[in-house]
Amino acid sequence: MKKEYNKIGIVAGPCSAENRGQMLETAKGLKNIGVGTIRAGLWKPRSRFGTFEGVGEHGLVWLNEIQQELGLKVMTEVALPSHVEAVMKAGIDMVWIGARTSVNPFMIHELAEALKGCDIPVWIKNPVCPDVELWIGAVERLQHAGLKDIRIIHRGFCTVGHHPYRNAPLWELAEDFRTRFPGMPFYCDPSHIAGKRELVPSVCEKALSLHIDGLFIESHCCPQEALSDSSQQLTPAALSGLLDSLHVSIEK
Ligand code: PEP
Ligand code: MN
Repeated sequence: MKKEYNKIGIVAGPCSAENRGQMLETAKGLKNIGVGTIRAGLWKPRSRFGTFEGVGEHGLVWLNEIQQELGLKVMTEVALPSHVEAVMKAGIDMVWIGARTSVNPFMIHELAEALKGCDIPVWIKNPVCPDVELWIGAVERLQHAGLKDIRIIHRGFCTVGHHPYRNAPLWELAEDFRTRFPGMPFYCDPSHIAGKRELVPSVCEKALSLHIDGLFIESHCCPQEALSDSSQQLTPAALSGLLDSLHVSIEK
């Protein structure tokens, strides 16, 4: 007898869009397992100078191809008003604001101004530092700009000391934040919390036990060759196996 699976939202895709082939192969793999929304970073906020900083606007055509040829929704990270202008011009379906941006009220203000009147879902990650008021303030600034469809991504926090995870999940802080915005879609990004593929399943399990609305997860057709976050990405096939083991299926 087929088991009853809980349905959750899934956004999946590579950390970075690297080239057309990688994007199309990954998106096709994800479409085959039922994913309807692809994430991929075009402008990458890297810690160190001289590392791969993304392909920038060049990648928009690959995202457009995924929309048109595969019928999938696509989203990317925006960190500057110029990014917002470029993605709106290209007709990208949704955007997310990253953890290194949500940490800065001035940057959030600038982005909120640029996003005013854009009728697309705007996802926002928690700030890198474990400050619930800063996280709340970032969402309030977007609300104040009149944005109606705001969604949350919990990606863990930088903390001092040694932890198994790349970014400490601080589940209680996340739950505290969540009570301030009841009803706002709340997703977990287990990839940036875990930092290592092997730890992704246990993070997902904990997040699901807290009844999150979905997972925002990194998937690459060839993780070991990824130009960023290579150790935390899963192939589409591995993602499918993971969802199965978690007894969840993808909500359309
Ligand atoms: C990403 O999603 O690839 C990313 C840069 O994430 P974060 O802002 O959570 O570090
Ligand atoms: Mn990443």
